[in-house]
Amino acid sequence: MTADVAYVALGANGADPPAALAEALASLDSGDVRVAACARLYVGPFVDADGTARHDAAPVWNTVAEVRTDRTPRALLERLLAIEAAAGRVRDGGTERTIDLDLLALGDRRVVEPQLTLPHPRCLGRPFVLRPWAEIAPRYVVPGTAAPVIAHADALPGAAAPRLRPAAPAPLPAHTADVVMLEDTEALCAWRASAPGPVGVVPTMGALHDGHLALVRRARAECASVLVTLFVNPLQFAPGEDLARYPRTLEADRRALSRLRADAVYVPAPDDLYPEGFATYVEPEGAAQGYEGAERPGHFRGVATVVAKLWQRTRPDRSYFGRKDAQQAAVLRQLHRDLDFGGRVVVCPTVRDVDGLALSSRNRYLDDDQRRLALSLSRALEVMARRVAEGETDGRRIEAAGHAELDGAAVPTDYLALVDAERMTPVARVTAPALAMGVIRVGATRLLDNRWVAPPPGGHAG
Ligand code: AMP
Repeated sequence: MTADVAYVALGANGADPPAALAEALASLDSGDVRVAACARLYVGPFVDADGTARHDAAPVWNTVAEVRTDRTPRALLERLLAIEAAAGRVRDGGTERTIDLDLLALGDRRVVEPQLTLPHPRCLGRPFVLRPWAEIAPRYVVPGTAAPVIAHADALPGAAAPRLRPAAPAPLPAHTADVVMLEDTEALCAWRASAPGPVGVVPTMGALHDGHLALVRRARAECASVLVTLFVNPLQFAPGEDLARYPRTLEADRRALSRLRADAVYVPAPDDLYPEGFATYVEPEGAAQGYEGAERPGHFRGVATVVAKLWQRTRPDRSYFGRKDAQQAAVLRQLHRDLDFGGRVVVCPTVRDVDGLALSSRNRYLDDDQRRLALSLSRALEVMARRVAEGETDGRRIEAAGHAELDGAAVPTDYLALVDAERMTPVARVTAPALAMGVIRVGATRLLDNRWVAPPPGGHAG
């Protein structure tokens, strides 16, 4: 399934708004429409079509759901209207909202038709839409505005915020409200044996942020069963690296994954994966040799070993990784090919903060000044991409332009290079898609980033 993402605003102020919203979501989530995520319920004053708060009306409970569907905008709207009609909604201009469903946006479409304008023409001025929307899709760029939802929410006048409060958790259908926690191999095997296919697996080290969650969303859209693994793999950290202080946020991760409707989370203990006597390792060469492989000896051996074990145990039809760790993705694709693992490896685009910083669990180590310094890396990569866009093809000159940007910021640089995305070898002349890739050190933190300098075939598909 290559479903489009759509956003639907839901509101209710009848006798039992949370129940009405839960029921509407359950109805929405059937057949060729799948609810992938839902924000908490926010309560605020009734606001009429011209934006005036009506204090003579019952407060409204609002949320926004992310759905995946192959439907056309018109066919999705029809489903929303049918749900409203089934719940007894009467559109008479009054202040009673048994249930109200608005289609906010569908993919990158812009539609102007009778009774159907996308994106929804009033969605950007409404705090009760933008706040919950920003909770589940902060970086979704609202078509025609060139700005992500979070920027629109942050631009709301301050006075709008205090009157709107989150009042209840997301009303996802009860059977999926809590992701299943699998704490050992036995539980994992039992889950895997009965999981409907295709099974998607997202390996992570936890401390989940929107970059990880984008992988989970993609898996949710493409797979019948979604398993996320959370394991801080000691094997890929050298002595003196940040293994002990690596962030661990299990409870928040569990909640985020429940909201996204992942089916299960595998959280093995280190001695479950590496019991007493463990002595066999996967030693990748080729793509693993330069860059991170040279800077962090043993790192890719640790990554390849743990991912090979996770692939053996979970047997995914599809497993999802981020382009953010481009060399890791190349090493894992090589491992997958060379050792005949089944299924497909899917590499997803990097998710960035609004200021351009690639999201990373390690960003939480940075204070404000360090964060500003950290941005010099994404700027340097951008400079390199711009040089290529302007027609420069000489690898050394392109790298020099990036270095000049980093020198200006005076941040220690482990490397900054133009590379072939699969082989991880230097590119002397740009004749095909290539990656600009670099690592800088900000305080005690190493930060990695990369970007395409010439788009891969088929666009920026990761
Ligand atoms: P980690 O927990 O850091 O090992 O990351 C788990 C997976 O999430 C890896 O495949 C990463 O490449 C991916 N990932 C981490 N950060 C991002 C990001 N900002 N955008 C997309 N994917 C990411």
